[in-house]
Amino acid sequence: MAKGDMRRWQAGPGAQAASRPVTPHERLLQVGRDLRAALVVDAQGGVIWMDLVLALAAGWEGGGEQGRSCREVLARLPWLFTAVRAALAGEQGLGEGSGQGQRLFAVVLPVYGDDGSLVGACARLQPRQAPRTAHAVPSAEHVREHYESLIDSIDGIVWEADAEFRFTFVSNQAERLLGLQARRWVSEPDFWARHVHPEDWSRVMATCLGALRQGRTHELEFRMMTDSGQAVWMRTQVTATAEEGRPVRLRGLLVDVTEQRRARERLEHTHSVLRATFDSIADGVIVVDAERRIIAFNKRFQDMWDLSDALMRPRIAEAALRHAAPQTADPEAFLASIQAQYIPSDAVHVDVIEMKDGRVLEGTSLPQRMGDAIIGRVWSYRDVTQERRAKVERERLLVAEQNARERTEESFALLDTFLAHAPVGLAFLNRELRYLRINTALASLHGHSREWELGRTVWEANPLMAPHFAPLMLQVMETGIPMSDMEMSGNVPATPEELRHWRVSYYPVSTPSAGIVGLGAVVVEVTEEHRARQERERLLKEAQEAIRVRDDFLSIAAHELKTPLTPLKLHLQMMKQQATQGHAPKPHHVDKALSQVSRLSLLIHDLLDATRIEAGRLELHRGAVELQTLIDEVLAETRPLTGQHTLERVVPPEPLVVLGDRGRLAQVLSNLLENAFKYSPTGGCVRLKLERDGSCVHVSVRDSGIGIPEDQREHLFQRFFRARNAPISGFGGLGLGLYICRDIIERHGGHIWVDTRVGHGSTFHFTLPLAS
Ligand code: ADP
Repeated sequence: MAKGDMRRWQAGPGAQAASRPVTPHERLLQVGRDLRAALVVDAQGGVIWMDLVLALAAGWEGGGEQGRSCREVLARLPWLFTAVRAALAGEQGLGEGSGQGQRLFAVVLPVYGDDGSLVGACARLQPRQAPRTAHAVPSAEHVREHYESLIDSIDGIVWEADAEFRFTFVSNQAERLLGLQARRWVSEPDFWARHVHPEDWSRVMATCLGALRQGRTHELEFRMMTDSGQAVWMRTQVTATAEEGRPVRLRGLLVDVTEQRRARERLEHTHSVLRATFDSIADGVIVVDAERRIIAFNKRFQDMWDLSDALMRPRIAEAALRHAAPQTADPEAFLASIQAQYIPSDAVHVDVIEMKDGRVLEGTSLPQRMGDAIIGRVWSYRDVTQERRAKVERERLLVAEQNARERTEESFALLDTFLAHAPVGLAFLNRELRYLRINTALASLHGHSREWELGRTVWEANPLMAPHFAPLMLQVMETGIPMSDMEMSGNVPATPEELRHWRVSYYPVSTPSAGIVGLGAVVVEVTEEHRARQERERLLKEAQEAIRVRDDFLSIAAHELKTPLTPLKLHLQMMKQQATQGHAPKPHHVDKALSQVSRLSLLIHDLLDATRIEAGRLELHRGAVELQTLIDEVLAETRPLTGQHTLERVVPPEPLVVLGDRGRLAQVLSNLLENAFKYSPTGGCVRLKLERDGSCVHVSVRDSGIGIPEDQREHLFQRFFRARNAPISGFGGLGLGLYICRDIIERHGGHIWVDTRVGHGSTFHFTLPLAS
């Protein structure tokens, strides 16, 4: 054994002592350590251990003494060899001699094993004080003193007791280690018993009795109480010696092992914590040394690889490997990988192992080190099946989510493009009626940009209309029933002055998980459509009116044209009859016939004039017209229809001259006068008045006739218009006179209008610019 081995052994004796019986070899080393021995030899005299000082003294400073016989090793120190040999013979080995240039004194103690047999001896050396005289022969007293001094120098209490357990010798260390005077152990029979810890007393007695009865060395650890009452852990070997086959005394060495025990307890505690940790971790762990012996493994490892206790018990890694490999999906690759990892290396190896039963294990191996040396390898296996599956699932979900996101983005892009370019207003709103999406068409209706509206409520975006449509929107979300093609009209911020019209639809938007989350709004601008419809309706009404007017006109025209024909025919027949009878036609009949022809002619002229006016072909032949004269000429030709009418003429003294078409202006005057007579069926005064009005002349024709209803007046100067209160049966006419008058007056740069009250008469006015 190397010198270093003693140190290693000292580091951990407790753990070994606790786990298995002490071998003779270990016993020797233990005693040697307790005695601080310089030399330990086995029963055969072979050197087990020798300290450096003695090795130097014996001339073995180069080493190599272990295993050799002490006769050979101690050749230079024969006095020490003699003492060793005596001890190996069961006697007390004492010796004195020179070594390392000084006198050394040796005491060699025999050491016995558990079965009482001699296992070896330990030698303790001490420099000897120089003798008082150079030639003095040591006396027995002197030797005893040395012997006791040597005993006292042992770091333990050397003791001896008789068969009745009475101490016959206790070394002075008793006082140093326990504060208990050595002499009291001997003089007071119960002194020692009183200082043994009560809990350990029965064990102590049993051990001593056992040693005595069995005649072999027993070892024991127990507590002794110090003088100050403190418990100190002591270890002792109890060796019985016999005389004539009867045990007569007990001997031993009490060593303070309190510190050792504490260290051992700490170590055991650490060991138990480590063991518990080792067994509780989720990973399966195995430690294999360089000789491929299994040093440690935990239960999880066994379960993971289905390795029975029986299989593991021999601790042969190869056996476990043979059982484990077939469980993997690729046993050959697995074996090859493990074999490669047996080659000592610093590398950390990570393997993913597919198992036949579908599991996936992740194996990590790393070197086990002692100092700088690699002494084995640690493998840990983790079941990553769930992790792997979760990872695969996570990746699948990630891809699915990515796809879904892309699809969603695509859908949104499509939706946004569609929204942006749709010619109608579109929007999506959430349950709070906030715009989540809105297109420019709709936002611009509100007078805002799309970006401004996003995230705003309908009340913020369109305060004018929101009170009308927000309740409908809420109703759609409440009931889930869409509302489509509702006609709405109103003013919007963009065009507050204009009444606009829309066709509006609201659709609930729902998702399978959250139900109705908002609504979609479609707003179609129909203002133009609305206007077009109104225009169509107006045109239709006008067309219908025109048809009615045409029909009226045809019936009136037929009536008006027919009316003069009857008296004309009558007078012509009368004239024919007179001619047949050889008489000259009576002038009266000729006048009447001519009057009817004139009337027909006037009607036809009016029709022709109306046609010319429509075609823009009515021509004026202008010249200076003095109006008083013109009025007089017209009045001369105009006669009241009945005798019930009177005619009044009011003209200024000074002549008023205009530049115009004399015939056409006469036509206007006679038309107004004729109407005044015609529409005053009950008679009355008709007054024609001419006056100057600044740079114009003002002519008015007043009657006290039927007047014209208020709502008819604006149409009075239109073609074929006849007022409601002028039925065809009562008052003939084509509704062309005033139309022609207005055209003539306006062509002369004048203006024509009427003041009238139903039932009170009418006054027609016109103005003309005076000739300059
Ligand atoms: P008409 O040949 O039908 O008289 P006019 O163009 O001269 O055609 O007149 C148009 C219509 O105006 C008449 O049908 C009549 O209803 C109304 N009107 C014209 N003058 C008078 C008037 N002095 N008093 C009342 N109604 C009149």
